[in-house]
Amino acid sequence: MAVVDTQAKNQTMATQAAKSEGLILVNTGNGKGKTTAALGVALRAVGNGLRVLILQFIKGGSTYGELKAIKALQEAGLPIEIRPMGKGFIFHNKETSEADLMAHKAAADTAWQMLTEEVMSNHWDLIIFDEINYAIKFGLLPVEQVVALLDKKPAPLHVVLTGRDAQPEIIAKAHTVTEMKVIKHAYEQGIKAARGIEF
Ligand code: ATP
Ligand code: MG
Repeated sequence: MAVVDTQAKNQTMATQAAKSEGLILVNTGNGKGKTTAALGVALRAVGNGLRVLILQFIKGGSTYGELKAIKALQEAGLPIEIRPMGKGFIFHNKETSEADLMAHKAAADTAWQMLTEEVMSNHWDLIIFDEINYAIKFGLLPVEQVVALLDKKPAPLHVVLTGRDAQPEIIAKAHTVTEMKVIKHAYEQGIKAARGIEF
């Protein structure tokens, strides 16, 4: 099929998709796959011509393979973007200092401000709030604030919220909630996080 035809078809699909009711999806639970499943949705969505933003709470840095892959998609002209806005997973460490917590709080506030603007901008058809449940759980974001944003978001916008321990208020707002359950994890067998699988 000619490139122009493909573009026209993608635009039609995007218009149709944008007209329908936006879905709220939640990937939670202790098992592996919450973020990777959300990235799968992002891939599927952008392949259908939807404009996709992935905004990552907690996560920072550039080690994640998805950053490079999404950048390549973007450079190839697909409407997809990923923004890591956090300072890393430090809460596993019981010694988290007050200063670290303040830095996390400041990063979450900045991410939140950006998220609110992007949600209300009508620039996107799908926004992934990666690890937001974790940010809520650790007190970096009040759950009421997140629920209020879900209430006022543009109707056609799809959103995916990921992270362990999704709060009941978030689950109540969602259309689709999936709990990843650990049966086994390589980590418990002493295997370190594998490049390309875990990051
Ligand atoms: P992924 O990004 O691989 O889809 P996730 O989003 O489900 O994982 P997170 O809670 O975001 O999981 O955890 C981040 C990291 O911890 C990832 O590297 C992930 O593979 C790893 N992980 C997830 N579940 C477990 C587990 N039950 N035990 C140990 N490590 C885990
Ligand atoms: Mg995750």
